[in-house]
Order: sequence, then structure tokens, then C-alpha cells
Amino acid sequence: SPDLAARIAGMLGAATPPSVVKAVDGVDLDILPGEVVGVVGESGCGKSTLGRMIAGINPPSAGDIHYRGKSVAAMDNKTRRSFELDVQMIFQNPMASLNPRMRVEDIIGEAPVVHGLIKRGEQKEYVAGLLRQVGLDPAYAQRYPHQFSGGQRQRIGIARALALKPKVIVCDEAVAALDVSIQAQVLNLFTELRKTYDLTYVFISHNLGVVGHISDRVVIMYLGRVVEVANTDTVFNRPNHPYTQALLGELPSLDATRREYQPIKGELPSPLAPPPGCTFHPRCPHVMPKCKTEAPSLKGIGIRHLSACHLNDLPPEQRPAPLNAH
Ligand code: SF4
Ligand code: MG
Repeated sequence: SPDLAARIAGMLGAATPPSVVKAVDGVDLDILPGEVVGVVGESGCGKSTLGRMIAGINPPSAGDIHYRGKSVAAMDNKTRRSFELDVQMIFQNPMASLNPRMRVEDIIGEAPVVHGLIKRGEQKEYVAGLLRQVGLDPAYAQRYPHQFSGGQRQRIGIARALALKPKVIVCDEAVAALDVSIQAQVLNLFTELRKTYDLTYVFISHNLGVVGHISDRVVIMYLGRVVEVANTDTVFNRPNHPYTQALLGELPSLDATRREYQPIKGELPSPLAPPPGCTFHPRCPHVMPKCKTEAPSLKGIGIRHLSACHLNDLPPEQRPAPLNAH
């Protein structure tokens, strides 16, 4: 449907050798315009790869990404360029992505001139407006990246992305490097900008708390697979997958309803040699014999709620307590 911001379907895998890692296996996800979709998982679970594929940076080796009804792989050059402008990415470490020799004015204002979004003569005013939008003094346009704090640099990174008038922004650990108090400020900025510019976000983080703060819907990934997709409220109040429950058990919270969940145990296995069957089985408190041999598929278990766990095939009275808790 052309109404979707993006559709990601099929078996997406990282195209880069030597890996035989299926970074993102069996993902089938529709992102609606204006929606904030959070993607959560431990590092190495494939969530960055998924983000880079959505942003068109890494092509999937199999499967397909559709943007506004068109397959990204099949786009002609013109459509492809407009897709590349429409979908911008913001990374964890703004210092690494901001050219240290360039003034902020050029860091933010050069690309929109090159892409014909503004005229050269409009650059100064355009950059000043964007700096104000992200809560920075327009006078900062004449400074260099090293003259700013981490939080300010991330604001510059955000202004640079906004300068290209994107429709979708993929944020990969965009607040992970910041102090907790600054994280909250930058998250609030993301929320404000979403309203101002009608943005769609894909918000990738290892931190379920951060993702829950900003997202309408959450995708939980484990070892390259999506294990649960649900509205944020459902993830926090009626999580289905044992891994999602374990993630909740790790959140610092005084909320008694969440204490029923145990934090995750054991080590994350190598994504190069994922366990057979359900890849979560060595760490799952509810593992059954079938889990060791058969991979559960992602199935609808409620309205816009998907989960990949064999427990859902059991009659409700046979499911373990946390799964039936609500
Ligand atoms: Fe646990 Fe089995 Fe469900 Fe995997 S399929 S999460 S091992 S109960
Ligand atoms: Mg990552």
C-alpha cells in the first residue's frame, strides 16, 4: 500500500561476506507514516543492520524493502535519490560523523544546497532556523564540532538530518553516548520535532526504557530474529515472549507488576553460531524439548501483536504464569 511509510518483508540478510549471519531473519514489518517504531535488542542482534537496510545504506541480500509502495531494489535513479533524501539516519557517535574541519554552517547547510533543496544564498538563514529548531544558538554556525558538548553535537547531527527534509529518520543508538539527563532532553527534542515535521522514526536502542519512552510500537529482536512486535503499552503491560519479559525484568523499576519477570540469565551466544531451534532456548526459563529443534515462527497473537514462541501453541491453562499474567 502506498500509505505505508515503509514495508520490510521477507528474509533480510546482511550482504557482506564473510558472514553467514542472517542479521535479520524473517522480518515482516510495516511502518506507518508518522509512527515511531522502536527496535530493541542486545548488541549484535541485528538491529543496526535492520536500520541500515531501512535507510538504504545496506541492501538486503534477500527479501525486500518497500518505500511508499515501491521496492527500493527496483527503484530508478531518480526515485532512489528521493528515497535517499527522505530517509535519513542518525548515529550514536556524532563526533565520528561530523567533519572536524567543517564549520557547523557547512556541516548542516552544504548537502541541502548540493541536492537543490535550497539556494546557496539561503544557506545562512536556513541553518540558523534549523539550529533554533534543535535548541542551539544560531551563532554556533561559525563554530567547529570540537567546540561542542556531546549533547550539542547530537543536536547538530539532528539538524543536519532535518536539513534534507526527511520523512523518515532512523536513529541508531542516537542517545546511547549521552548522560542520562541529556538523553531525556534529546528524546524530548525528537518528540517535538516529530510533531513539527510530521516525521516517522525508527528508533533503535539496546535500552528498552529509552525505546518505550519514545515509541508507539516496539520490535524486539534476538540474535537476528524478530521475536515480538507489539504496541508499546502491550510490551510493557502484557509482554508475550519470554525474552521480552526478561528485558522487562532488567529495567530498573519499582513497579510491582514487573517484578514477576526475571532478568535474563546466561551469555548471549555468538550470532555466527546461533543455537538451533528457538535461538533463545539456552536462556529461556520455559524451554520445552521442541524449542531445541524447531524454530518458532512469528505469529499474530492479538491485534497488531506478533510473537515467536512455541508456548503460544499450548492451551492457555498449560502456559507458564508470566505468559498468563494478564
Ligand atoms: Fe522459550 Fe521455547 Fe518460547 Fe523459545 S520457543 S522463547 S525456548 S518457550
Ligand atoms: Mg548496533
